[in-house]
Amino acid sequence: MPDAESGAPTVENVRVVVRVRPMDQREKLEGSYNCVSVDSVNNTIAVNRSSVNPPEPPRIYAYDAVFDSNTSQMDIYVQTASPIVEQVLRGYNGTIFAYGQTGTGKTYTMAGSNSAPELRGIIPNSFAHIFSHIAKANDDEKFLVCVTYLEIYNEEVRDLLGNNPHQSLEVKERPDIGVFVKDLTGYVVHNADELEKIMAVGNRNRHIGATAMNVESSRSHAIFSITVENSRRGADGKLHVGCGKLHLVDLAGSERQSKTQATGTRLKEATKINQSLSVLGNVISALVDGKSTHIPYRNSKLTRLLQDSLGGNSKTVMIATVGPAECNYVETISTLRYANRAKNIENKTHVNSEPGDALLTRFQQEIDQLKKQLEESANEIEEEEELDGISEGEVSDATLTDPELDDLDPDERKMRRHLRREEKERLNREKAHQARKVLEEKRAELQRTKKQQEELRDKLSRLESKVLVGGENLLEKADAQRRLLEQAARELEQRRLVELQLQKHLQKKEAERLDIEERYSSLQEESAAKSRKLKRAVQLLSAAKAELADQQREQQREMEGILDGVRALRRELQLAEIVLDAYIPKEYQALIEKYVHWNEQLGEWQVRCVAYTGNNMAAPPRQPARAPQFEPPDLSDRYLSYGAVTGARAPSRLARPHASAVPRPHTALRQRQ
Ligand code: ADP
Ligand code: MG
Repeated sequence: MPDAESGAPTVENVRVVVRVRPMDQREKLEGSYNCVSVDSVNNTIAVNRSSVNPPEPPRIYAYDAVFDSNTSQMDIYVQTASPIVEQVLRGYNGTIFAYGQTGTGKTYTMAGSNSAPELRGIIPNSFAHIFSHIAKANDDEKFLVCVTYLEIYNEEVRDLLGNNPHQSLEVKERPDIGVFVKDLTGYVVHNADELEKIMAVGNRNRHIGATAMNVESSRSHAIFSITVENSRRGADGKLHVGCGKLHLVDLAGSERQSKTQATGTRLKEATKINQSLSVLGNVISALVDGKSTHIPYRNSKLTRLLQDSLGGNSKTVMIATVGPAECNYVETISTLRYANRAKNIENKTHVNSEPGDALLTRFQQEIDQLKKQLEESANEIEEEEELDGISEGEVSDATLTDPELDDLDPDERKMRRHLRREEKERLNREKAHQARKVLEEKRAELQRTKKQQEELRDKLSRLESKVLVGGENLLEKADAQRRLLEQAARELEQRRLVELQLQKHLQKKEAERLDIEERYSSLQEESAAKSRKLKRAVQLLSAAKAELADQQREQQREMEGILDGVRALRRELQLAEIVLDAYIPKEYQALIEKYVHWNEQLGEWQVRCVAYTGNNMAAPPRQPARAPQFEPPDLSDRYLSYGAVTGARAPSRLARPHASAVPRPHTALRQRQ
């Protein structure tokens, strides 16, 4: 059992791999030169620019794995994502990032193409993997798979599976569950095939911005998250719940904006996109330099949401994607350098056992409760059905044969008997009427109880359908995907064995070569060997110089980016000031400034004591400003059944009111005018 499973966290670095895409049609037509070469034995990428004079040394970067343009989607999955998904199934958190210039294959790597099973990307393959794991599990194991899909666009979080993809959601934090997005729709998924519809809904909603680089390229960051909860009865007889979360992140293009000829709205957009990417860069730098005491996670929504993935509790892989063409040399180098730094990030991971917010536990409790209710209502029905046989009853004939009547004369007796008979019949009618009424009421009640029982049964089966039992076949169409994955895994194993043999052979040859070199037979040979060493030293020196020059160029580019951002912000500020001066008198501005404070949690300005300023005196006095209270997300409402995607949204039992604890500045201004 690994350390982590016995409770102690494991420290491990972020794994960084690089994927080079093939030359595209345009690059081929333009006769572009391939400047990227991949050495998959040493796991290095060399970038060589041929067109500069004087010639520069090749830039060589080492990674955990490198993939050339012939690498298939399945190989990428098996070698990068599969180990992470395996860990997620054991209750760890996992993150897979795709980082790189627009058009280099981030979306291709993460989502892939729907046209053939072998072209599918990491997201569908993770699904096939997860559901194949459930299908192979024992039937005493229960699972719950839930997905969310969001995008961060212009520093605003949008729900790609929600009813209103334009609505901006709030990022919140709670001590027990950490950072979360309020009101984000979660879908409980029953099998791997449902993913297609979910992805289609999400991708339709994804904001696509056309740029001169690539008309299809997305300017947003997309985070697809899969939560896998599982419960199993342990040797102690108790239910043990584990929960693994997998974030699959398709970042926006990392290129500098000047290249995409952005103007106007797009420039503003670009500044914000680059802002969150540069915050990501700052977070990486702060994490790897080892001296920083403050990691600026809070400076962007992206880093806030992915806080655990970088330097936290997550097994993380970064897939850097690059193009091969020389025309993208600068961006390629920039991506490779960025990715190289990320290798040094250390994460501390542990299994999420017995999570407080596990849906599976809540669903299981609800199922037990419903079963109990059903049993009770079945007993009630039984009792009521017994009552259903109630007799209408009759008044006895005793009064008609009363001996008292024998003393009367025959006419009187006859009349009395007649009267008594009529009275008896009346009483019988009344009694029958009452009995019928009682019966009808009982029948109505029986109907109500039966209806209630139906509803309970319905609810129970809906809840039970969300919980997946180990051993069920949940793949159906996705079965082909699973077979492909398994085949790819087998092939990989064989290739590993061959590689291992080759490496051993190589090491043997190297040892022999060194042996020969050491045995100089003449001065001439010694001099030749020393010249080679000198040449190698010169090469290293020029590589170091080139690296320094790259670093300086990169810093210069970053500085220019920051200055662009500052200039854009200054322009916006000036505009805001003009609007402010035109509409709000100076003394009120001073007043607002006095009562305004910066909310670190929400990353926004808030006005204090706003309840005492306006014209809403009739309203009950509000509390003075205080730190916002983070309400727990209403999970039962947020986690809908998959049916919701197709329009049949599960009925929501609880409303989702939301009001910020402190009114926003513009509310205050409206109240004051
Ligand atoms: P990004 O998301 O980084 O902007 P895309 O994933 O949209 O880039 O890829 C751009 C184009 O290149 C797409 O047409 C895609 O199919 C193609 N492509 C990217 N990577 C590969 C690859 N490894 N093999 C084949 N085609 C690829
Ligand atoms: Mg893309």
